[in-house]
Amino acid sequence: MKYIYGPVPSRRLGNSLGIDPIPSKTCNYQCIYCQLGKTTNFTNERKDFSPKEEIIKEMEESINLNKNEFDYITFVGSGEPTLYKSLGDLILKAKELSEKPICVITNGSLLYHEDVKDELIFSDVVLPTLDAGDEKLFIKINRPHPSIKFEKMIQGYIDFRKEFKGKFWIEIMLMKGINDSKEELLKIKNKLDLIKPDRIDINVPIRPPTESWVQIPDKSVIPILNDVFGEYNNINFPERGKFSVFSSNFEMELKNLLERHPMKQEQIIETFYSKKFKEQDILLQLNILASQNKIKKVNYNNQTFWKLTS
Ligand code: SF4
Repeated sequence: MKYIYGPVPSRRLGNSLGIDPIPSKTCNYQCIYCQLGKTTNFTNERKDFSPKEEIIKEMEESINLNKNEFDYITFVGSGEPTLYKSLGDLILKAKELSEKPICVITNGSLLYHEDVKDELIFSDVVLPTLDAGDEKLFIKINRPHPSIKFEKMIQGYIDFRKEFKGKFWIEIMLMKGINDSKEELLKIKNKLDLIKPDRIDINVPIRPPTESWVQIPDKSVIPILNDVFGEYNNINFPERGKFSVFSSNFEMELKNLLERHPMKQEQIIETFYSKKFKEQDILLQLNILASQNKIKKVNYNNQTFWKLTS
């Protein structure tokens, strides 16, 4: 499958069937913490990067194949999904094909855009991010396309929230020495008070980030978070469970998963382990692919990850 992956375990969504209409890595942000690596197609132009008929065909196949074995259908992937112009058609098609809730994971930059607003309104859960409380830090962290302005984006969140009947959960990526001071967190809280999300999720960069100087905050930030936010969900823990693969082609399936994000070595072993394919076979295959310069090993936060060579 080219556009569909999973079901994969997701920290916030249980088992999620992923739909990825965006080619790697197409985005209107260049976040310092992005786990997909550098933005190679930096654009704010919405278009159909591939024919929607092809994506719909795969959606039909995989929804039939995985009937009821997932909790959400999630639009996410190798960049910013709202850049796909016919996203609304894909959402409506997914609703027609399955009764499972539809989720869109987005950086939120285009929620002010009338078309995007009208398209996402049909989904059940929208998960945007907000990592900064002012333009200066927004530019430092997310490095947005020059046509995206912070205050306009925030107004887009506020207006969308008023109209949207589904769940609106905002995620904050917390990074040491960047946005984890009380001063910066209070600025974010001020914006959240205007937006009124249903839930605030705090995340930390658990996978290797684009910029190597990005770090997980110290535990000393926890009382500050409690003080500023009161109620929030800390989602700083790895996903539990296996990822699903569609075939026995190790290289193809592994690359398909790594295209979405780097994976911990132990999670790769858990996903591909079988009676015939033991841990040592998996490690051997990983090392062969590394020697062919197709993937690479990264040590981050005292753990071994594998990612695609970019
Ligand atoms: S984290 Fe998301 S929004 Fe940021 S650069 Fe990566 S894909 Fe784009």
